[in-house]
Amino acid sequence: MKNFQQTDKNGFYGRFGGAYVPEVLYKTVEDLKLQYSEIIECPDFRTEYRQLLKDYVGRPTPLYHARRMSRQYGCKLYLKREDLNHTGAHKINNAIGQALLAKRMGKKRIIAETGAGQHGVATATVCALMDMPCRIYMGALDVERQRTNVERMRMLGAEVFPVESGNMTLKDATNEAIRDWCCHPGDTFYIIGSTVGPHPYPDMVARLQSVISEEIKWQLREKEGRDYPDYLLACVGGGSNAAGAMFHYLNDERVNLVLAEAGGLGVETGQTAATMQIGTMGILHGSRIKVMQTEDGQIIEPYSISAGLDYPGAGPMHCNLHETGRARVLPINDDEALCGAYELTRLEGIIPALESSHALALLPKLQFRPDDVVVLNLSGRGDKDLDTYLKKLVCYHKTQ
Ligand SMILES: *Cc1c(COP(=O)(O)O)cnc(C)c1O
Repeated sequence: MKNFQQTDKNGFYGRFGGAYVPEVLYKTVEDLKLQYSEIIECPDFRTEYRQLLKDYVGRPTPLYHARRMSRQYGCKLYLKREDLNHTGAHKINNAIGQALLAKRMGKKRIIAETGAGQHGVATATVCALMDMPCRIYMGALDVERQRTNVERMRMLGAEVFPVESGNMTLKDATNEAIRDWCCHPGDTFYIIGSTVGPHPYPDMVARLQSVISEEIKWQLREKEGRDYPDYLLACVGGGSNAAGAMFHYLNDERVNLVLAEAGGLGVETGQTAATMQIGTMGILHGSRIKVMQTEDGQIIEPYSISAGLDYPGAGPMHCNLHETGRARVLPINDDEALCGAYELTRLEGIIPALESSHALALLPKLQFRPDDVVVLNLSGRGDKDLDTYLKKLVCYHKTQ
C-alpha cells in the first residue's frame, strides 16, 4: 500500500513537494531538515510542547456529538472543536511547535507572513509568550482589509510590515518574508503557517498538527468503541487543519477522506480558489504543487469569501491525496459555505469560522448510512467573520 503520510527522502509526496529555495537558503533549509524530526520527537521537547498545548492552548479539544446536525444528515456526526483553542483556531498548535523548535535551534528572531492575519496573530501570540522579537509580513491591501488582526498583532508586540509590491496580498508578503530570510539565514526562524513551503515544512507542520487526529483516535474509542470514523471532513487552504485531523488515518483505507476547497463564486467563473480543480503544476513558495497560474506562469489572484482559504496553491500532501484518489476534493462556493454556517449556528449554537463552514457544506453533498460515524474538523470560530455573516443574513432567509 502507498504511504500517504511520509515524503520520500527528497521531500516529495508522489509528484508534489521538494525544496526549491534560493542558493543562500540552502544550508538553512538543510539544517532544518537534519534537525527538525530529531528535535520534535525528543522527550524533552514533547513534554514542553504537550504542557503548553494543555495549559495554554486548552487541549484536548472536545469531540462533540452534534445531535441535531446528525439528525439533519442521517449519520452520527462529531465535531472536532478546534474552534475552542486559544486564539480561536488550530493555527496555534503549529506556531507553538515551531517557536519551541526555533529556540532549540538557537534562533533569536521570528518572521512570518500572513494573509488574513490569523497566522500572524498566532505567531505574534507565541512570540509574546516566549519573549522573541517578531516581524510579520502582510500585503498592504490585507493590512487595510484586516485592521483588527493588525491591531491585535501590534498589541502583542509584533512589528507588522506592510508589503507594497505586486497585488499587495499574501503572495507578495510571502516573497518579502523569503527575502528577509535570505538576508538573515543564521539567526532568523521563518514560521510558516500551513502545510506549504519547501520541505521539510509541509511534513513538520503536519506532524505538529497531528495532535488533532491523535486525540480523535482515543476520543472515538471512548465514545464509539472503535478508534476510526467512516468519514473525515475538513477544509483546505494550505492544508494544515486537514493534515492534522487526517494524519493518523491517511493510510487507513476504512476512512473516507473528503476535503473542501473554496469554490468562491463558482469554479467556472474564474472567481475561485479551487486550486486542485483548476490548478496546474508549478512552483510556489519553494514547493512543487498545483498552482493557479496563467499559461506563462503568472499567479492568478485567488478569490474566496473566506480569507483563510484564498491561497493560490494547495499543500503537496493534499495535491497527492487528490491526484491518487485517496481523498475526494470538492469545491464549495461562497453561498454554500454561508448556508453551512447558519445551519450549524441555528442547530447547535456554534458560530463557525468561514473556512470551517466550507467543510460543513460538504455534508449535504455526501450520502451517509444511518450508522456512519462522521468526524468534521471545525477548524476555527466565527467571531472574526461576524461582519460578513451579518451582511449576508438576507441570503440565508432566501434559502429558507
Ligand atoms: C487559516 C485557516 C484555515 C486554512 O488553513 P489550513 O492550513 O488549510 O488549515 C482553515 N480554518 C481556519 C479557521 C483558519 O484560520
